[in-house]
Amino acid sequence: MTPLDVLSQVFGYQTFRGKQEAIINHVLSGQNALVIMPTGGGKSLCYQIPAIVNQGLGIIISPLIALMQDQVIGLQQLGVRAACLHSNLAFSEAQQVTRNLYQNQLDLLYVSPEKLLTPRFLDFLITKPINLFAVDEAHCVSQWGHDFRPEYTKLSILQQHFPNVARIALTATADEPTQQDIIKHLNLETSQIFTAKFNRPNIRYLVIQKELARHQLLNFLETEHEGDAGIIYCLSRKKVEETATWLAKQNWQALPYHAGLSAKIRQQNQMRFLREEGIIIVATIAFGMGIDKPNVRFVAHLDLPKSLEAYYQETGRAGRDGLPANAWMAYGLEDVMLLRKILATAESDEQHKRIDQHKLDTLIAYCEASSCRRQILLNYFGEQLPEPCQNCDTCLEPVATWEATEVAQKALSCVYRTGQRFGVNYLINVLLGKMDSRIQKFRHDKISTFGIGQELNKNEWKSIFRQLAARKFVNIDITGYGGLSLNEKARPLLRGEQQIYFRKDIQQRKKHISVNSKHKNYSSLSRSNFTAAEQELWKKLVAKRLEIALEQEVPPYLIFHDSTLVEMIRNNSHTLTEFKKLSGVGEKKLNDYGQLFINIMDQQQL
Ligand code: ADP
Ligand code: ZN
Repeated sequence: MTPLDVLSQVFGYQTFRGKQEAIINHVLSGQNALVIMPTGGGKSLCYQIPAIVNQGLGIIISPLIALMQDQVIGLQQLGVRAACLHSNLAFSEAQQVTRNLYQNQLDLLYVSPEKLLTPRFLDFLITKPINLFAVDEAHCVSQWGHDFRPEYTKLSILQQHFPNVARIALTATADEPTQQDIIKHLNLETSQIFTAKFNRPNIRYLVIQKELARHQLLNFLETEHEGDAGIIYCLSRKKVEETATWLAKQNWQALPYHAGLSAKIRQQNQMRFLREEGIIIVATIAFGMGIDKPNVRFVAHLDLPKSLEAYYQETGRAGRDGLPANAWMAYGLEDVMLLRKILATAESDEQHKRIDQHKLDTLIAYCEASSCRRQILLNYFGEQLPEPCQNCDTCLEPVATWEATEVAQKALSCVYRTGQRFGVNYLINVLLGKMDSRIQKFRHDKISTFGIGQELNKNEWKSIFRQLAARKFVNIDITGYGGLSLNEKARPLLRGEQQIYFRKDIQQRKKHISVNSKHKNYSSLSRSNFTAAEQELWKKLVAKRLEIALEQEVPPYLIFHDSTLVEMIRNNSHTLTEFKKLSGVGEKKLNDYGQLFINIMDQQQL
């Protein structure tokens, strides 16, 4: 079979995406490759298809058991002979896999690096006809990343023991030091590097100014994500717990996930997220790697991520299926302060701190941006997007900017006249001329800036101070109570030698830019404009899918993706021939499930 035959007959897809075909042909010709492709870009096919097309066995090294299991179940659903070996496997299961290996009954084997590196297993593999090694999540080899796995650095053994077998390393994180580490440890010096476009056009980026963040989140969920699965990221375990409990009280199916929970609870919650429909996981960054769920419809950040890389990786978990998804973030001055504090007190060396500081500044600039967010993101990863994307908040609802020189001067001189040691709330009270006991005590009702800021309200002043801090006109005392002091940069502004423009914050998104209504390139893929009858049918198809999934104890998306069900409805498919044309319906799934879904289609006239 050719790669294209496998793509259509086994996977049920008609065309390759991006560089998939080039990568597959490269690997099939026996050459090594490094593949850097964003989450959801379609990395798996790049090694699965060569392993299936070639005689013999493809070995995939993968760092996470959950990841392996999902991939294997997915492949078995497609009728591919795949299995995995790792330390959590029951003895009898491991025996079965080993038997299959002896008898050359497998096309793909997923193993953990620990397992692979045992001398006994290596000796055994040498006797087998191996057609390729794929190293998934290859960034785990690098100490620079946050997912460092020491065993990965020992994988140079592959080159020594199997010099003639092609190696393909794959990852979604692409920075230069990590790339160099991968190349070094996996001996890929002479390999071709395939980098895919980083853009994820179906993800809509939204950043709102934090006020009552929880309520803003709730509003977002209610207007856009009724019944959807999603991930909400928080910085601390405590906040994860509180948010999950609070959402559950508001009748959302929200479950917590963080490193402080027992392994059992974590496993349980993750399982429910994968196996049920419409579960929301509230998590620290401990959650996410290896989560292959394609229909995560939103990723929300209640706190700032650590860097733009982290943000891109975390938001990238939304919409792997290519259907519209939202990346929503609430951002405020308190975030800037908190992260600066964490940075300042971290126990890393000066050089590291400088790098982290720069990363934080870049992230803040992204939050404060008034131009297309996708352009900023892609530019950061070294890619150009010539036109604004029309699918981020600043494109859909352009941010007004205004000349704020005079109010900035008022704010800065208030900082100065109160002695450069008070926090934002105090300063705002002085500007608004609001008397309180502290102001009285320090006699700040007698200074010239008392009450000179009444043209703006409290939130507007907050926005001014946030932007002054973000752009470093003021410093924040992070060791104490967040007192502000003037930075050198403030001087020309105070002297009137410089003009400054600020963004007019938008506190709540208007309904009309909700993800479903205006996703113009995706409307045919989205369920938003379903008629009542179509919506009804959708529910029945989803229920059928869940029933089958529960019966087989596999995640529903491994039966059919949402996109396949949407297409089924849009095309009004009623015959096996029509079903065969649906994306994601290969021969095995057509045989196994076609008729079951046709029966449901037949019950309801559109
Ligand atoms: P990654 O590992 O890069 O995050 P996956 O390999 O999981 O991405 O692929 C993401 C999704 O895209 C999967 O659901 C996969 O089935 C689908 N996909 C991959 N390649 C194609 C293709 N050529 N046509 C249609 N869908 C594809
Ligand atoms: Zn945009």
